[in-house]
Parts: sequence; structure tokens; C-alpha cells
Amino acid sequence: MRPFHYEHAADRAQALKAAAAAGANVHYLAGGTTLIDLMKLDVMRPATVVDINALARDHAEVRADAEGLKLGALARMSDVAEHPAVVRDYPLIAQSLDLAASPQLRNMASLGGNVLQRTRCPYFRDTGWSACNKRQPGSGCAALTGVNRKLAILGVSDHCIANYPGDFAVALAALGATVDLEGPAGRRVIPFEDLHRLPGETPHIETNLKPGELITGFSVPAGSWTRRSLYLKIRDRQSYEFALTSAAIALDLDAGGVVREARIGLGGVAAKPWRSHEAEAALRGRPLDEASAQAAAHAAFAGAKAGGQQAFKPELGRRTLVRALLEARTMEV
Ligand code: SF4
Repeated sequence: MRPFHYEHAADRAQALKAAAAAGANVHYLAGGTTLIDLMKLDVMRPATVVDINALARDHAEVRADAEGLKLGALARMSDVAEHPAVVRDYPLIAQSLDLAASPQLRNMASLGGNVLQRTRCPYFRDTGWSACNKRQPGSGCAALTGVNRKLAILGVSDHCIANYPGDFAVALAALGATVDLEGPAGRRVIPFEDLHRLPGETPHIETNLKPGELITGFSVPAGSWTRRSLYLKIRDRQSYEFALTSAAIALDLDAGGVVREARIGLGGVAAKPWRSHEAEAALRGRPLDEASAQAAAHAAFAGAKAGGQQAFKPELGRRTLVRALLEARTMEV
């Protein structure tokens, strides 16, 4: 690991000040479960690391009320996954956290850091490969003709097909969450769907965060669909593994099983946490059954681009979504 300058921030103001003073090559440190990994691999090379764990005093809340669910960015994944109100009223959130990583990592990792985790593309994580536009802009993309079985088929470009690897962020996208940010220019709130960027011609720019900006929390609006919600994750093994495909589902059904509202996110298959507005539109106003679930799944993957080792992914993604929808239909709420 390369030498770096370490700063401990006692509060938010100190963290922002330290980041501003450090300049461009600075990263915030919370759980460190992504950052330290990538520093050891020499993929991330911050000159300064600002430790923000002391901010948990003000930014680790888990609160559910009539407005919705409020989550502090310094809350730990395991604490939120086990919170009774989250388990009861937002099972999709609880499951997306509980199915990620390992117990040890969930105890360490913060929510803010979790949504900012980097891709698992093998060429990004191995500096022995020279062609990676995300790590080295303009160098090419080894994955286009290489090992790409686990990479993205939605939202990709000719410059990068890296997948977004997380689960919790897919749930936030599906539920229409917002994210609270604070930076040198003050506070702002943006839709969670706007936090991550598609790769386009600049895959090395992954988010719309401004320099020095810090995630302080997330808000999930209340809705008649949050209780009938689930996260289905399909992977090569049942534990400590990233999604090949996943579906985040939240449904409001009338007494006859007709879909009043559907919220659908997809994981493992897309360049960013993916909300499928197309699948939602295909379901709205229709009885939820095998035929409408299939129609939604086909709408969700209509724009998929699968190359090389990815031929199986659109079909696996469709099957994952159909199964998740039909399972959500039978939930007791
Ligand atoms: Fe790099 Fe993206 Fe290509 Fe992977 S898919 S090698 S991250 S440019």
C-alpha cells in the first residue's frame, strides 16, 4: 500500500474542512471495506484519507415514521438489516442488506460507503491489466472481449461494461429514495437514481457527487407498496457472493390482485443501481399473474446488450424478475 496522509474528523465541519484542504485526491473513510481493499490492490491511491467514523454520533439514525424511513449514512449495514421497523415495514431494504457480503463486513460497512462501492470487474481490480477505461481513462476495455460473465448488460457503453455490484442501492433506487449530501457549497438533496452515472465515454466518473461532498443520509418515502416488498438475489453460491442477477420488488395490489403501483429495481445486470420504469409501466393496472410478470420482465430487458460470456444473462434476469414478482404477490401484508 502506498503512503497516505490520515486525518481524523471529530465532526462534519471538520471533515469538510479537511477534505477541502486536502484537494482533489482525498477520500472519506467509514467502514473501509471497499476503500482499504482497493488501496491494498493499488487501484485507489488517495493522498489523504479523512476518517469520518466520529460523525456516527449525528448520522447513524434509523427512524421510521409516517413520512417514511430515514437512514443515517454512518449506520452500519447489520444494524439497519436487523432493525424491527425496517424488517416489518421495508423488508426489501432489510433483505438487500442481509444478503450482502459477510456478517463481519456488514458489521463494519456503513450505508454511505456501501452505495459507493466500486465494480468487481476483474480488469479494474488488477493493475496488471493495462486496458481499463475506468482505472486509466483512454486505455481501452479488456472486458469487452474478455472475462465478462458477471458484468453489465443494461446501461453499458462501448467504453465500459462494468456492473454496479451492490444490493442495498438497488433497493433504494426501486423505492424512489433520496440522498442527503453536504459539501463545501452547502447541503442538497437529490434523487437516489441521480447519484450514480452511466459510463458513457467517461466510466471513471461514477457519481454526480461534487468535490468534497459527503453523503449524510437517505430518505425512503412511505408508500402503500413498502410492506409487500422483497429482494431476490441469484448468485453462484448462496453466501458471500455478488449477484449475477437480482430483483428488488415493491407492490401495491388491490383486493383482486390488480397492480395499483409497482416499484422494480434490478441488480447484477446494470452499470448503476437500476430502476426499471418500463417494467413498472407494463404491470400497472394489470392483474399480477404469470403473463403480466413475463411482460414486465421482457420490458425490463428489452434494451439489454449481452456480449461474449453474457448470453445467459437476459434470460436469467427475466426469470429472476418473474419469480420475485410472483413471490411478492403471495406475501401476507
Ligand atoms: Fe475497466 Fe469497465 Fe472495461 Fe472493466 S468493463 S475493464 S472496469 S473499462
